[in-house]
Amino acid sequence: MSVKRMTDCQFDHQAIRSQFPALQQQLGDNPLCYLDTAATSQKPQSVIDAMNHYYQLDNANVHRAAHQLAAKATLQYEQVRVQVQGFINAATTQQIVFTHGTTESINMVAHGLTDLFKAGDVILVDGAAHHANIVPWQALAKRTGANVIPIPLDSDGCINHSAYDALLTQAPKLVALSHVTNAMGTINPVKAMVAKANNVGAMTLIDGAQAVAHLNVDVQSIDCDYYVFSGHKMYGPTGVGILYGKLDALEKLTPMLTGGEMIKTVSFDGTSYGELPNRLEAGTPAIAAVIGLGAAITFLAELPQTLIHQHEQQLIHYLQQQLSQLGDISVYGVRPNNDNIGAVAFNLADEHHQDVGILLDQQGVAIRGGHHCAMPLMQSLQIKGCCRASIGIYSNQQDIDRFINALAEVKSILL
Ligand code: PLP
Repeated sequence: MSVKRMTDCQFDHQAIRSQFPALQQQLGDNPLCYLDTAATSQKPQSVIDAMNHYYQLDNANVHRAAHQLAAKATLQYEQVRVQVQGFINAATTQQIVFTHGTTESINMVAHGLTDLFKAGDVILVDGAAHHANIVPWQALAKRTGANVIPIPLDSDGCINHSAYDALLTQAPKLVALSHVTNAMGTINPVKAMVAKANNVGAMTLIDGAQAVAHLNVDVQSIDCDYYVFSGHKMYGPTGVGILYGKLDALEKLTPMLTGGEMIKTVSFDGTSYGELPNRLEAGTPAIAAVIGLGAAITFLAELPQTLIHQHEQQLIHYLQQQLSQLGDISVYGVRPNNDNIGAVAFNLADEHHQDVGILLDQQGVAIRGGHHCAMPLMQSLQIKGCCRASIGIYSNQQDIDRFINALAEVKSILL
C-alpha cells in the first residue's frame, strides 16, 4: 500500500506509520517503541522494494556497458541525482556528488582542500559538532599546520554567537557548522552564520545529517560552499550520502579517491580527470543504495510537508514538557526562542545514561545513551554522556507516552 498524496487538510498519520514494517514488530514482550531515529531512521516499504527490485531485475553496473540493463540502471541512478538536486534546491545536477555518507563527504572536502591550506590558516568548527565534522578538520590541520578553533558554546550547549562573531575577525579560511546538532536537536541559524562567514571570505561547510529529514533545506538560500548529509537518516538506506557544493567549491577539491569512473583519459604518461560530478565518484558506486535514496525522496515528496513539520514539532514540545513534569531530569540545548527538532538530550538525576538506556530497552523503548559522537559538547556541558530520545515522521504521541511511562518506571527503580 502506498501513501496517497495528501493535502495539508488530509493528514492520516497512521497511514504513514504503517509504511514502516520494522515499527510493527514485537521485541520480547513489548511492541517496539523506536526513539533512536537520529542514529538511523526506519525505512518505508517503498525504499525496501526499490532496492529489492534493482537487485532482482535491474542489476547492472552504471555508466559502463552498452547493454540495455546497464542503460536502465544508469538511468535510475542518474534520475536520483535529479531528485536530490530538487530536494535541496541545488542549481545543477553537476553539484550533487554521491558518496557513502556524511562522514565520507566531509573527509572528501577536508582531504580535497589540503593543497589550499597552509600553516597558520584558521578553521572554525562548531563546538557542538559530531566527530565527523571535527576529526577530518583536525587531520587537515595536522597535514598543513592550520589551526582548528572550536566555536565556543554557552553553558546550555548552544553556540555563543558573540564568540562566533569575534572569531570571524581572525579571517578563518573555512567555517564548519552543524545545521542541526545530533546530540540535542538544536537548530543553528546557518543562513545568518554563513552570511557572516562569506563576509570575511571564509569557505563554509554545513553538516545537514540531522536536518534534511526534518527541515526544508535550500542550499542556494543558505549560500554555503558545501552541504553534506546521509541517506540513512532520511528514511533511505545506509551506504549512500551526498556532497553538494557550489561549482567552484567542488572544482577546488583534489579527488580523495582515484581510479575508474572519475577519469577522462589514462595513460602511463599522465592521466586527466573527468568532469563533475564523476570526477569525485571513483569506482562502482552504491547503486542500490542510491536507488533506495531516490525512493525515500519520492516517499517524502508525497507527504504534506507543512503538517509533518508541525507534527514533529508538537511531538518534541510534548516530549520536553512530559520530561520536565517527570522531575529529576536535566535537558540540554533547549532555548526559549530556538526550536529543537528531532531529538531531546537528557539525563535522569546523576544516573548513568547507559543504565537508563538498558532499563528502557527492557520495556521495549529504544533510545541512545552515550557521548553521541560529540565528546567536546559533552565536555562543554560537563557531563560524560546523556540519553537521547529522537523521533521521525512515523513517531506518535503513544511513543512519547510509552517512553515517559517507561522512564517513570526506571526512575522508581534507580532513585
Ligand atoms: N553528522 C551528524 C550531525 C550526524 O548525526 C552523523 C551521524 O550520526 C554524522 C555526521 C555521521 O553520519 P554517517 O555516519 O552517516 O556518515
